[in-house]
Amino acid sequence: MSARPLIDRSSDAVGTALRAIADATDLDALRAAERRIDDEFAAIKREIKSVDAADRSAVGQALGTAQAQARAAADARRGELEATAGAARLAGERLDLTAVGAEYRRGHLHPVTQVWRELEDIFCGLGYEVHGGPEVEDDWHNFEALNFPPGHPARAMQDTLYVNLGEPEQVLLRTHTSPVQIRLMESQPPPIYAVMPGRTFRRDTPDARHSPVFHQIECLVVDRGITMGDLMGTIEVFFRALFGDVEARFLPSFFPFTEPSAELGVSCPFCSRSGCRTCSHTGWIELGGCGMVDPNVFAAVGLDAEEWSGFAFGFGIDRIPLLRNEIDSLQTLLWDNDVRFLRQF
Ligand SMILES: [Zn+2]
Repeated sequence: MSARPLIDRSSDAVGTALRAIADATDLDALRAAERRIDDEFAAIKREIKSVDAADRSAVGQALGTAQAQARAAADARRGELEATAGAARLAGERLDLTAVGAEYRRGHLHPVTQVWRELEDIFCGLGYEVHGGPEVEDDWHNFEALNFPPGHPARAMQDTLYVNLGEPEQVLLRTHTSPVQIRLMESQPPPIYAVMPGRTFRRDTPDARHSPVFHQIECLVVDRGITMGDLMGTIEVFFRALFGDVEARFLPSFFPFTEPSAELGVSCPFCSRSGCRTCSHTGWIELGGCGMVDPNVFAAVGLDAEEWSGFAFGFGIDRIPLLRNEIDSLQTLLWDNDVRFLRQF
């Protein structure tokens, strides 16, 4: 057999191969085309032995050229397809760092905590320290050292929650933050300028005006030569920092741990004393109690009442966000825990 038919077939095979390679749209299609081309070239090669011996080298040469041409075309096409596939993968995996992510709503502090911190800030600005104490107290710190002897009628007003621990009615949930005053005076010598915010507990059913858990802040000053004038001046400065241009009012009262004692009021910051719903049209808002530290309290903590004098005042923290935000119910503020409501403040 002459060389011509196989040379023609090689050249046809290249033509077919180049078209198949150009048509391959992805790497799998290209590999399939290469397999078919290889098969065709292998078939041609097998037939070389039927060509006249003198012409075989011409066929071999033509076949080699055809194979090289097909291989070069396949390699070039593979390069193109790999580049396209890489670009597609990159596009698929691309992170758009400018995209807006899923929204997380950032919360904020509870209105009571906000006021708590504001009060601490005001007193820190006046040079006071902030102290804390245990919420589960003993009778000594909560009552006896504060001049509530056993059987004293003022104890009955405190609606105490007792803890079933130790002797009966000796361990309790503190009914006020005053035991921290005792702990402070027991643990460090005067002068003391301190505030004590914290959670307090009484046996109350939650409603608009009552809560078994509430928050108080107390202030204690013990130093030489402290007078009622220092107490009134401090309260006035403090009220102005908290409410703006207001006056303090002191009405005689009784507390076991202070003598003399006074109810503490502030002129209504919402109506400038002309009367509004918040102040029940009285022009004044009662906030808490105050007085000069009773000598019996000094005696309980081993301080000489002849040498030291001091004042204390305290009030409920929860009242302030209620007043400021015209919230009617303590229950709404402390118990409902409705984020839609709390979000406003
Ligand atoms: Zn008012």
